[in-house]
Amino acid sequence: MSEEDGTQGEIRDAGDFSAWLSEMRAALRGDRTAQVPCGSCTACCTSFQFVHVGPDETDTLAHIPSDLLVPAPGKPRGHVVLGYDKSGHCPMLIDGRCSIYDHRPQTCRSYDCRVFAAAGVVADQPAIAERVQQWRFTYREPGDRFLHEAVRFLVQRYGPDAGPIEKAVRAVEGVDS
Ligand code: SF4
Repeated sequence: MSEEDGTQGEIRDAGDFSAWLSEMRAALRGDRTAQVPCGSCTACCTSFQFVHVGPDETDTLAHIPSDLLVPAPGKPRGHVVLGYDKSGHCPMLIDGRCSIYDHRPQTCRSYDCRVFAAAGVVADQPAIAERVQQWRFTYREPGDRFLHEAVRFLVQRYGPDAGPIEKAVRAVEGVDS
């Protein structure tokens, strides 16, 4: 969910693995925004996804019509989700672009589909899975390949109770680096 283009045909440069891992973890902590070379891809905005918005995200909430928000299941009062239309598209996606890009939810700011590629997990939405299989990481140091393997190994700890994104995120957060 960024505007930088990293397109290389069917294979896309996912960047240096070690640097990506550190930046991804910072994004998951909310310390930075994920910088994803999305190009023209809007798969994550068009894949039947509910987007969580927390009660502290006042700027975001001010930019989304309240009738598009519903209480978030299993979360305390004030947490909401932004749903999708009949085609599975986020209603804030207009003419192929996020109409509230500068005010988008934290969920969107930290979303990076390379997390699936890093963890070797197949995304549950076909358009996202297609994009994910194009990513290729590079490795500056020999140890970085082992680090990547460690993330993929860690995923096996999580059973069927965890969904694909949860498994991938947990492995990225849990690996020793
Ligand atoms: S709010 Fe914007 S970035 Fe987030 S899913 Fe909707 S269109 Fe995509």
